[in-house]
Amino acid sequence: MTTGWPTALVSLGPAVSTFVGHPRSSARSAVFLAVAAAGAAALYVTDPGITSLVVGGWSVLGGAFSLALTMRTARDFAGQTNDLGSVRARRQQLAKELGELKRVGAQTEREHKETLALYGLIKGLANAMKWADVKPTLESAVDQYLGVADYALYIADPKNREGFRLLTARRLDGSPGASWATLERCLQERGLAAGEAHRLDAPEKAVTAPVLENGELVGYFYARAPHKADLDALLSKAQSFASEISFAFRRLRLFQEVENLSQIDGLTGVYRRGDFDTRLEREAVRAKTFKTTFGLMLLDIDHFKGLNDRYGHPFGDQVLKRVGEILNTSVYDTDFVARYGGEEFVVLLPRAQPEGAARKAEMIRMAIEAEKFQLGFETVRVTVSIGIAHFPRDAGTPEELVAEADAAMYEAKSRGRNQVVDSWAIRHSS
Ligand code: GH3
Ligand code: MG
Ligand code: MG
Repeated sequence: MTTGWPTALVSLGPAVSTFVGHPRSSARSAVFLAVAAAGAAALYVTDPGITSLVVGGWSVLGGAFSLALTMRTARDFAGQTNDLGSVRARRQQLAKELGELKRVGAQTEREHKETLALYGLIKGLANAMKWADVKPTLESAVDQYLGVADYALYIADPKNREGFRLLTARRLDGSPGASWATLERCLQERGLAAGEAHRLDAPEKAVTAPVLENGELVGYFYARAPHKADLDALLSKAQSFASEISFAFRRLRLFQEVENLSQIDGLTGVYRRGDFDTRLEREAVRAKTFKTTFGLMLLDIDHFKGLNDRYGHPFGDQVLKRVGEILNTSVYDTDFVARYGGEEFVVLLPRAQPEGAARKAEMIRMAIEAEKFQLGFETVRVTVSIGIAHFPRDAGTPEELVAEADAAMYEAKSRGRNQVVDSWAIRHSS
């Protein structure tokens, strides 16, 4: 009969097996199963009999059951851990996808805003008839599409000495883009072609883009890059902006040409007499209102009749044309040149001081005198006599002013031609 401690210990096998192994350590359960089996075997060897067999069998079976149970819970647990890991990974993935969606959403919104700005620009430009009309549209497009605040837009202007004039500029004090002259110099110094798109890193971060019309440079855009801007992205946007506005430039130039054609004298390329009269009236009103001055030059070609008689009318026309060109290129953009009569021209010089007007007249006289007209083998030279009068110094009305300039011009003729006479000088010489 088996009794005592060994039997009690072996019979506790299933409980201990469960306790040491459950729920995850199958290895411990297996070790204990081996220990239980060894205990059962030892029990049976020391005390063979039915009791040892039952107690040993109970212990081994219980241990095996515990092992099976532990293995199963361990597998389930591993599965759950795996599930948790994949849930975490999925959550991370979703967060990433959400971030990406947000980024794409923001970009789409930005692109949508830019497209609207571009659309607004095209629509606004399509209705514009004058340069002044396009300015607000251009400014809002630059702001919304390009997101730059400091920029300048130049347009080609054959009447301007520099070839370009500023259409609109914002906050560019001290920047090379502030005037066409400084911009051109800045590009030249860097060996960059004026008229092509560039990204500049010095003297400031900026981009430039040409406005081209059938390959001809009709405008130029300069933008100082905002802080931390991506210069390459800005450059490509500036280029598409410039290309979108080129059609408007073409239309506006055509409008202007048509308008100018009716005002411009076909032979000499300067304004007609009618426009001069209107302009003179306006200038007199302005000078009175703002207490400013302006000068008037009356220019007459010397011995023109003789020139016509000797070399023929076509040659006379050629001289008139060239004189018109010299006058147009010699004066400021704000000055006004017109053909007053057959071979007489007038130049209005708003805000000019007498000394400045006299210098300008002398410069014109010398330029014309220096001009060589070729007729076969013969070189012909032409001179002009110029009279100057000032408003309000010499006259109180436009008519009186013209009469004063005319008198000064005749005085120049009588003094021997090819000279400049100031109306003030005649009155104060006698
Ligand atoms: P002065 O030095 O005193 O000014 O002498 P002038 O010969 O220039 O004087 P005048 O005013 O008598 O002559 C002007 C001439 O200009 C008369 C006219 O034949 C000529 N003329 C006027 N319009 C034209 C034009 O469109 N083409 C040409 N070829 N000649 C013109
Ligand atoms: Mg004359
Ligand atoms: Mg003459």
